[in-house]
Amino acid sequence: MKFPPLSNIIGGQRVAADVPMMDVYGPLNGDVISQVPLSGMAEVDAAVKAAKAAWPAWAALPIKERVQVFYRYKTLLEKHKDELARLVQEENGKIFSEAVAEVAKSIEVAEFACALPQLTSGEVQEVSRGVECRSDVKPLGVVACITPFNFPNMVPNWTIPNAIGLGNAMILKPSELVPLSSMRLFDLLKEAGLPDGILNIVHGGRDVVEAICDHPGIAAVSFVGSTKVAKIVYARAAGNHKRCLALGGAKNHLIVLPDAHVAMTASNVAASMSGCAGQRCMAASAMVAVAGSDHIIAELCTEARKIVPGDNLGAVISAAAKERIEGYINDAEAAGAKVLVDGRGCKVAGHEDGYYVGPTVIDYVTPDMAIAREEVFGPVLAILRADSVDHALAIEQGSPYGNAAAVFTQSGGLARYVAEKASAGMIGINIGVPVPREPFSFGGWNDSKFGAGDITGKSSIEFWTQLKKTTTKWNPEAQTNWMS
Ligand code: NAD
Repeated sequence: MKFPPLSNIIGGQRVAADVPMMDVYGPLNGDVISQVPLSGMAEVDAAVKAAKAAWPAWAALPIKERVQVFYRYKTLLEKHKDELARLVQEENGKIFSEAVAEVAKSIEVAEFACALPQLTSGEVQEVSRGVECRSDVKPLGVVACITPFNFPNMVPNWTIPNAIGLGNAMILKPSELVPLSSMRLFDLLKEAGLPDGILNIVHGGRDVVEAICDHPGIAAVSFVGSTKVAKIVYARAAGNHKRCLALGGAKNHLIVLPDAHVAMTASNVAASMSGCAGQRCMAASAMVAVAGSDHIIAELCTEARKIVPGDNLGAVISAAAKERIEGYINDAEAAGAKVLVDGRGCKVAGHEDGYYVGPTVIDYVTPDMAIAREEVFGPVLAILRADSVDHALAIEQGSPYGNAAAVFTQSGGLARYVAEKASAGMIGINIGVPVPREPFSFGGWNDSKFGAGDITGKSSIEFWTQLKKTTTKWNPEAQTNWMS
């Protein structure tokens, strides 16, 4: 094993749990690289106790003092960028440059957290003669964050800097498939001066998630993962009277119009469907080609064929994921779709046991096929044909998801029309992966998100805080009116 078996982090210490251990596989070679404890309610309870004990002193610090930790943390993320990226690569299988980009996004979120004092100064007004009302932004207490496998460094960082910078103490439950990066993030936060007990890590799977949703000491839960589990977590956490924001899966539609810039569209669509091996909630999964776009499809296939697994295309997370993805391709082909670029049976020299799927483009997919409706989460693009822009929009709007959508055209009017009508929270115009950068917030619509607000940017401030409103009158001599 390349990395020693992991422990939980409770009260700032690595604490071994008396629970079963699960093997962690490295997708690059299919070997066991570490082991992760499968914790339960006892470990969550210990983490909540540690967080509760540490929280009052942390919350009492002025926010300008708290965010100093994140200035130092940002510098440490920069200093260790390559090392962090290599760790992401080991446990997730993505290529190095993608892992570096992931860490860069973490750095951007840490940078945003440094600005929190500027965004949370509260309000004050003389609401009646001699009477002043002020509102202050206050933390919630102990909060929890549950993360998926596809961005082991970035998704924990979507929440850690903002939630903790705003004065909360946190329990983090990383994906059991990629538990290593979170441990390294903890070490860097400790080095940056985060007090013990403010970030606790409890490893495991479903049992930990259920314990988090049920524990009365946890005030809010953020979740990022599949829609199936997002629904379960949202219902269970809200049912236990917690604040919850649960981001789910995606089926992003890229609408391509015949007037689109050919080279730019082809390279953007190919990069969107294959980046991170298609394992990102912003990936192009379905391309809706409006009549007359065949020349763009041909160029897209040329671009897709340039993608070399192991070189500029990483591995998928597991043997099961590879089998599932190839199953979608087989089923679509059997139902009459035409495989233009075929990534099945992919082997990478030197990584023969790695979990690779090559870039795949499938044309003449129809809306009833599973590959058109469901999240495939692999480097696979399904092309659906549309007669008109409105037909293409109807296909996009028919999806229960709503994370991202994009339009490729050189017509400003049509771009605006599609952007207005598409039923998704994040829209790209001639951009295949329209991730909003800070201070804009990240979050989808429909079955891609449950709960109010978004998970990053200014929108996250409301999620991690509550307002305290104080009404004051000091001067009895002030002229009074009915409100005084
Ligand atoms: P997942 O839903 O399987 O797992 C997410 C988390 O939930 C993990 O920590 C896991 O341990 C836990 N979990 C799994 N099954 C559970 C159950 N039955 N009950 C309680 N907890 C459970 O997701 P994943 O496979 O790790 O990640 C991929 C998914 O995440 C994709 O659907 C992707 O689109 C989505 N995702 C969404 C966003 C977004 O911003 N909307 C971002 C990244 C990933």
